[in-house]
Amino acid sequence: MEYQQIINSIYNEVLLLENKGTVADYIPELEKVNSNKFGIALIDNHQNNYSIGDAKEKFSIQSISKVLTTAIIFSKIGNDLWQRVGFEPSGNAFNSLVQLEYENGIPRNPFINAGALVIADLMLSHFDNPKAYFLNFIRELAENEAIDYNETVAQSEKEHGFRNAALVNYIKSFHNITNAPEDVLDFYFYQCSIEMTCEDLAKVFQLFSHNGLIPKSKTKFLTTSQCKRMNALMQMCGFYDQAGEFTFKVGLPGKSGVGGGVVAIYPNHYTVAVWSPKLNKKGNSYYGLETLERLTTITEASIF
Ligand code: GLU
Repeated sequence: MEYQQIINSIYNEVLLLENKGTVADYIPELEKVNSNKFGIALIDNHQNNYSIGDAKEKFSIQSISKVLTTAIIFSKIGNDLWQRVGFEPSGNAFNSLVQLEYENGIPRNPFINAGALVIADLMLSHFDNPKAYFLNFIRELAENEAIDYNETVAQSEKEHGFRNAALVNYIKSFHNITNAPEDVLDFYFYQCSIEMTCEDLAKVFQLFSHNGLIPKSKTKFLTTSQCKRMNALMQMCGFYDQAGEFTFKVGLPGKSGVGGGVVAIYPNHYTVAVWSPKLNKKGNSYYGLETLERLTTITEASIF
């Protein structure tokens, strides 16, 4: 069966399910989103694009951005990265402070907020204008100059970001943040506010299905080993406290965000992005997980 037929039938089947999730409401901008949106986009490794539903509508990628900042820093500083952040699953909430105390301010992995803040600190240390660099990097991977930060979302995150402020200050007390906490937070809130479509997201993540190569420019951005490690991190830590269940049911590395986006990678085969804003109790898109479980079941193909 063709991928287009497969995603069409999954889309229609998932739409019949009662959508049990709830939209993220910690900032008003995310709460305002139409909760019925649902889109799927898949790009195979021969650059064929397949999509259905609201796959051309942009949404807030939120935590999915953490994978991209980590890839940038990993490419820049290599394995020195692991002196600042770990690579183990956390088993705690994404915004938890507890493990930091007994692990001397070294966050467990780059995808919990503590780890993403350390990566944001590294972005500030390694780039003169990290916001511009990050945006250009994403625009280049997506081949879409229209991708941008959402100022309102970024400001709103700032107004409500008390826990992230606590995290960054706490990590700084262990000397694992080198820049001013307010600058680190500013970059972090902007990176989370980036908006793009499922089609853009599937395209951006091709880097990880092509062993670190950017298909369009043929630039080897990550070494094959670095790409393997990025995919391993997504597998272990990409779904908040549900990474085990995602591995169990879907069997692909990926990352979700509270905007309802989920992206998954089948190395050397395809990338797939799903958007549906209603989240399950663990903060992952309810339809997103239903969709991806069906995809790897119907195609009888996952990394396992
Ligand atoms: N900006 C959000 C936060 O730091 C990210 C939430 C997410 O997608 O996990 O709380």
